[in-house]
Amino acid sequence: MARDRNAFEMAQAQFDSVAEMLGLDAGTRNFLRWPRRELHFTIPLKRDNGDVDVFHGFRVQHNDARGPAKGGIRFHFEETIDTVRALATWMTWKTAVLDLPLGGGKGGVICNVRYMSDREQEALCRAFMAQIVHMVGPEKDVPAPDVMTSGKHMLWMMDEYEKIAGGRFPGVITGKPVGMGGSLGRTEATGYGVVYTIREAFKRKGKEIKGHTASLQGFGNVAQYAAKLFEELGGHVLAVSCWDHHDKKPYSYARADVDVDELVGISDEFGTIDRVKALDLGYDCLEEHGWIDQEADVLIPSALDRQVTDEVAPRIKGSVKMVAEGANGPTTMAGDEIIKEKGIYMIPDFLCNAGGVTCSYFEQVQGNMNFYWSKEKVLSRLDSMMTRAFHQVADTAEEKKVYTRDAAYMIAIDRVAEACKKRGWI
Ligand code: NAD
Repeated sequence: MARDRNAFEMAQAQFDSVAEMLGLDAGTRNFLRWPRRELHFTIPLKRDNGDVDVFHGFRVQHNDARGPAKGGIRFHFEETIDTVRALATWMTWKTAVLDLPLGGGKGGVICNVRYMSDREQEALCRAFMAQIVHMVGPEKDVPAPDVMTSGKHMLWMMDEYEKIAGGRFPGVITGKPVGMGGSLGRTEATGYGVVYTIREAFKRKGKEIKGHTASLQGFGNVAQYAAKLFEELGGHVLAVSCWDHHDKKPYSYARADVDVDELVGISDEFGTIDRVKALDLGYDCLEEHGWIDQEADVLIPSALDRQVTDEVAPRIKGSVKMVAEGANGPTTMAGDEIIKEKGIYMIPDFLCNAGGVTCSYFEQVQGNMNFYWSKEKVLSRLDSMMTRAFHQVADTAEEKKVYTRDAAYMIAIDRVAEACKKRGWI
């Protein structure tokens, strides 16, 4: 499948086009289109069988003018320095559009944790932290979980940081398990946040989620919780998809009465649905991008970057009114043009999936107070922050008569450029 530009070229091109609309001066443009710092390193790891494998890791800080860099760590076999750069850049825009006092960063290791024992994963996490220890810290750069990483990985990394730094520094990392400094609601936060924005987009059209349908790409953390809340609010899920590691390709699963909890029950910790069990339960197993062929009202791409390309986007049905980007960078620029031409309402990634980082910010706040909120309080604060940010973007898009993605960029770039200027950097 053609993914056109690499992810970082895509992030830069998106920025360049809005910088042009904003009439940003050349110095600011040149500064904001590049990450400020990046670290590349190798991690030699002794495997359980005695072999030593060498993994490549990265940590990138795009911008920290508005606060410490913030962004997840991904363990993925297709990771590259350019995906990490792109994701760090999008984190800067994400924290800015939510008006969080944070910047943007990202990390990654090229590896496949599916084929690593717990001991090997722990060793990898500790070695990763030992490499980035001087770059991160509660007031410098705060990592979090992302694709293929979870609370257990964050805890090993925090423990390694504390061993080296000597002391207790729960603020060095977020996404920790509940009871070990983590926040209630973090697991749900990104997927729920996606649905809060969909609910608000419907509201602006005088409608509600109830009675509408959605189809999702992916069935991991983001997609599962987005699907659950979409159904709780009276919507109906038509299909979900996932990567099948046996066949090394994605499948989509559809049934007239998709039962999200049932599918969660036959999925592994990496969000892969057991194909044989799904077929037994009467799901249709569709090849590759079957999720996008559904006659749905809403499409929620929640897997990886550059999935909705100009090859795939023409397949989007006339019924689709909205695309809510649960993943980071799921739509290529050419795919985006097709969505625009079709007149589909876009809820862009760095607004739509900002629930996770917002809840990570809540985790930092709670950790600093050493006082933890109820799940209801976390989710209601998350809802009001996502709702406010969504309407700021939607209002800007209407006032300036621009695409919603461009409106979100305008708000974020303005805020970051202003912080850089106030600091005297540019
Ligand atoms: P995850 O690892 O829990 O799940 C990823 C899912 O995508 C899995 O179901 C996997 O099988 C599926 N998948 C992978 N390749 C696929 C393909 N080609 N076609 C269909 N499905 C495929 O990851 P996640 O945490 O749910 O993150 C998903 C996306 O959302 C990523 O882009 C991530 O960067 C972004 N995101 C995550 C968070 C978060 O809090 N988890 C926050 C913001 C953004």
